[in-house]
Amino acid sequence: AAEEGFALEDVEGAIEAAGHGPLPVLAVVGRPNVGKSTLVNRIIGRREAVVEDKPGVTRDRVTYEAEWAGRRFKVVDTGGWEQDVLGIDASVAAQAEYAIEAADAVVFVVDAKVGATDTDEAVVRLLRKAGKPVVLCANKVDGQSGEADAAYLWSLGLGEPHPVSALHGRGTGDMLDQVLEVLPEAPRETFGGGIGGPRRIALIGRPNVGKSSLLNKVAGEERVVVNELAGTTRDPVDELIELGGVTWKFVDTAGIRKRVHLQQGADYYASLRTAAAVEKAEVAVILIDGSESISVQDQRIVTMAVEAGRAIVLAFNKWDTLDEERRYYLEREIETELGQVAWAPRVNVSARTGRHMEKLVPAIETALAGWETRVPTGRLNAFLGELVAAHPHPVRGGKQPRILFGTQAGTKPPRFVLFASGFIEAGYRRFIERRLREEFSFDGTPIHISVRVRE
Ligand code: GDP
Ligand code: GDP
Repeated sequence: AAEEGFALEDVEGAIEAAGHGPLPVLAVVGRPNVGKSTLVNRIIGRREAVVEDKPGVTRDRVTYEAEWAGRRFKVVDTGGWEQDVLGIDASVAAQAEYAIEAADAVVFVVDAKVGATDTDEAVVRLLRKAGKPVVLCANKVDGQSGEADAAYLWSLGLGEPHPVSALHGRGTGDMLDQVLEVLPEAPRETFGGGIGGPRRIALIGRPNVGKSSLLNKVAGEERVVVNELAGTTRDPVDELIELGGVTWKFVDTAGIRKRVHLQQGADYYASLRTAAAVEKAEVAVILIDGSESISVQDQRIVTMAVEAGRAIVLAFNKWDTLDEERRYYLEREIETELGQVAWAPRVNVSARTGRHMEKLVPAIETALAGWETRVPTGRLNAFLGELVAAHPHPVRGGKQPRILFGTQAGTKPPRFVLFASGFIEAGYRRFIERRLREEFSFDGTPIHISVRVRE
């Protein structure tokens, strides 16, 4: 490194920064209007317009990356909900339940000006049951005089209330320090489910693509879809299902099995559930209805799984209904609409007839193998050396930027750091990614490549 002009500490720093494993997840929960979205904006340090959202406008973004005091984590915002047919308590509880289930720690926001309501008490019960670390945020304490209101919230039995003004930033730093105290360094469930434990699959896709049908098919027909009882909250349930002689854990299947017919906010629920399932899983099986045009909603779900860095399998369902013409157009749509996951293994299935169910497991195994691949540094640099010699970066301003060396900083998904003598253009980065994929078979996994340039 030194002879290439990089200081050893810079190299080590870059590798460490790129090599972080999966990030721990912080959920922000509470009643509507207590200031959750305002707080999330504060935490992520930018105004991502979550507060400006008009009622009824679909919000599909629910997880954000944040950093505080040098530590990175993910934040799940549950601010986008609307009260639905179940009534306010059940709605808040259902929202909170998904978020808490996916989280490693929780910030519970209460409006200190209003004090604890029955709905707040209901969330407290959920929090107790879940047993996750909780930081109590007494929000809307905009000045000294509000601190007494915050003190009343000791009565919730969740420990010290942290007086905060999400709107003005007062007290948020102290509260985040406390969050970092309780937030584990890595997600609670280590990937791989412990030694020999089952791998975790999230079966996701927009409503009506056939998730419930597929789950029933793979789990055996005798399993019945449970009807949701009005007023009960949904338990996220992980189910162990044997496929191809291996036991897999399908995460959050209750959300698939029990169908709540919501009049409002249904899309938001679906997004939150999808995000929660993806966070808990190692591999996402994204189900797409092959009989219909690939939609923006399908693409958003794909993006969610890619951004979360999960292994990905694409399953095109309802194949039994596709005629030759539709199959032709589907291929074209896949090329144009799903280019961002051109590397994902693909299966064409029918949950109705059982067609190609046996191809699901090999596809999942391929994706997980790619996701876990580690390329030894020697092999990587031999490959990079040949690549750069055969296909040098175009000359820019009389100079030729060169990739000098590289290393794989992490896996799950694979993360690479490349060290270069000058700015490497986006097109050349894509070329390198493509060649890396060809050479080391990263099928079914996103890969991250960061480039450090010598000063
Ligand atoms: P959510 O429904 O829990 O996500 O709540 P929002 O973040 O949308 O906030 C609801 C309302 O409370 C908005 O009008 C915010 O401007 C306001 N609000 C949020 N935090 C504070 C605060 O710390 N102080 C005051 N005075 N108002 C706040
Ligand atoms: P979910 O909302 O994603 O769980 O979708 P469902 O499993 O409830 O399926 C939605 C509809 O599509 C139901 O009427 C199913 O019977 C139908 N369906 C699911 N899979 C298939 C399939 O492979 N072929 C056909 N023809 N219909 C299917």
